[in-house]
Amino acid sequence: MTGPTVGVLALQGDVREHLDALALLGLRGVRVRRAAELDDCDGLVLPGGESTTMMKLAAILGLLEPVRERLAAGMPAFGTCAGMILLADRVLDGAAGQGSIGGLDVTVRRNAFGRQVDSFEGPLDVRGLAEPVHAVFIRAPWVEQVGRGVEVLAEAAGHPVAVRQGRLLATSFHPEVGADTRVHGLFAELLRD
Ligand code: GLN
Repeated sequence: MTGPTVGVLALQGDVREHLDALALLGLRGVRVRRAAELDDCDGLVLPGGESTTMMKLAAILGLLEPVRERLAAGMPAFGTCAGMILLADRVLDGAAGQGSIGGLDVTVRRNAFGRQVDSFEGPLDVRGLAEPVHAVFIRAPWVEQVGRGVEVLAEAAGHPVAVRQGRLLATSFHPEVGADTRVHGLFAELLRD
């Protein structure tokens, strides 16, 4: 298969779902668990799941610095939910000592929507898409502050829930759930740029 190879950080979480979405778009997706596997990738997806667990595993496996270096060198990346937290430069309500990989100049708040409504779904307008997406939020973060150069693509409850900065894309919700690949399509555009 020609075209870009997209890594999916495969430590925990929605790995299979992202691989399926990439395949539907005709993109080659590979699991990334080791730094050497990152070398073959033209882009990286950071899936939904549990950001604290993913950070711990990424540190143990020596992935943090290699991913940071590739992001700094301009590799396109797409984080969903926990993956958005991993990409954020600043994390509020993190677990004790929780850091992030960073790269995206935003402040996110973990589990921001509150316990009563910690999971919900519904139509969401996303800039660049003609029709709303059916957005699934599961103990989702929201964005509390965006740096210059960060474009807000969608908002819910008065907060950004989809953002883009250069070749980085992040959503609070899970576009990998369901068969709608349009948000992954926005990421595919960043891979082509
Ligand atoms: N609440 C999770 C976290 O902090 C994210 C939830 C998700 O990815 N669905 O990592």
